[in-house]
Parts: sequence; C-alpha cells; structure tokens
Amino acid sequence: MSVSENLNQIHAKIKSAAEGAGRPVDDVHLVAVSKKQPDERIEEALSAGHRVFGENRVQEAQQRWAERRLQYPDLKLHLIGPLQTNKAKEAVALFDVIETLDREKLARAVANEMAKQGRDLPCFIQVNTGAEEQKAGIHPDAVSDFYDFCYGECGLDIQGLMCIPPIDEPPEEHFKQLAGYAADLGLKALSMGMSGDYESAIAHGATYIRVGTGVFGARPKQD
Ligand SMILES: *Cc1c(COP(=O)(O)O)cnc(C)c1O
Repeated sequence: MSVSENLNQIHAKIKSAAEGAGRPVDDVHLVAVSKKQPDERIEEALSAGHRVFGENRVQEAQQRWAERRLQYPDLKLHLIGPLQTNKAKEAVALFDVIETLDREKLARAVANEMAKQGRDLPCFIQVNTGAEEQKAGIHPDAVSDFYDFCYGECGLDIQGLMCIPPIDEPPEEHFKQLAGYAADLGLKALSMGMSGDYESAIAHGATYIRVGTGVFGARPKQD
C-alpha cells in the first residue's frame, strides 16, 4: 500500500476508534513518525497533505526537515526521542513540540533556550510508566513534582504527558496509568499509542498517536 492509502486507512481507524469511545475525532492527532524513512515516503506523505511528523533524533531531523520547513510553513515537528541537554539549542530551533522532557536539567536547558530564541513551544512530560531501568521518562512517583518544576519553576507550557509502554506488556494498563496522572494534574493532552496499539490508546484517551511503520511501512535496516 502507498503512504497515502495508509494515511487514509489510519484516519478511518482513528475515526471509528474515537466514535467507539464517544470522543470527537478532532481530538485525536496523528503524528507520522518519519525517523529512518526514505525521502520518497516523506514526500508522499507531504503530497497527501500530511503535515505533522515525529522524529527521535535531533541531527537526523535537521537533515530531513530544515529545508522542507521553508517549503511547508504549516509543518509541525514533534521531538519524540530522548534529548541531550547539549542539543537543546538545536531542538528548540527546529521542533514545534517537545514530547520528551524527563529531568530537571533538561527542562531548565529547554526553558533557557526558549527564552533566548523567543520561542514558547508546547511540551510534554515523558513518563516511564513501566518504571523500566533503561528507559527514558520520569519515574511515575516523581511526575507531580516534575510537573511543578517545569511549569512553576521554568515556566514551560506543559500540555500533557507521553509514554512508551514496555514492549513485553499489554499497553492498556500503561495508557490508563498515563491518563490517570494527566487527569490528576489537569492536563488535557496524552501522547500514547503507536502502529500496533493506537486504536486502544484512543479508547483510553490519546490525543496524539505516534505512528511510524503504519504510515510509511517498515523502516529500512541501516548500517
Ligand atoms: C519509532 C517510534 C514510534 C513509532 O513506532 P511504530 O511502531 O513504527 O509506529 C512511536 N513513538 C516513539 C517514541 C518512537 O521512537
């Protein structure tokens, strides 16, 4: 299937999942995860009118999007991968949404850069809902304090929470957990759900789903 057919099919599934959950379909936004995808697939998505993309590496995103940004002023780029503080400057300059705030040092660096560059980007806090050792994201016990720090101390525009459930567990418990933390904090946006589970994520309240292979097909093996 072509990228535009994939997009049509995903939009149809988003619609039925939202309707099934009694939610307005406009509440659910598709972030097409373009990391590692070949250029022609990106171009196909752009030709089909899609404008919201997710990338997990700053440098790769710069290469792919810095020029296209000028061509597509309505582009929205989400950073969905871990961010090093020394890349905060580049990230703030390139992205429109930062989904992966997960520690004070990073929140501070991002806030400083935004002030310097005169940009006020919407942000998400990434929560390590499975409390997995190797995984990015703030520990669930620390979400509330970290939110206070980001919002109160750094003045960041925190719109919601993001999670990547553990690979070997049913994601539903994690979607519910994330929705619960967001409700406690009064946050409206939830970034959760990927190619394999976005319909379930929508049923649990996702407002942003991050779909890569479902939109573009399998990522080519590199190296
Ligand atoms: C790669 C990636 C996705 C998309 O995964 P697919 O299974 O290809 O849909 C979503 N979220 C994050 C954080 C990712 O790194």
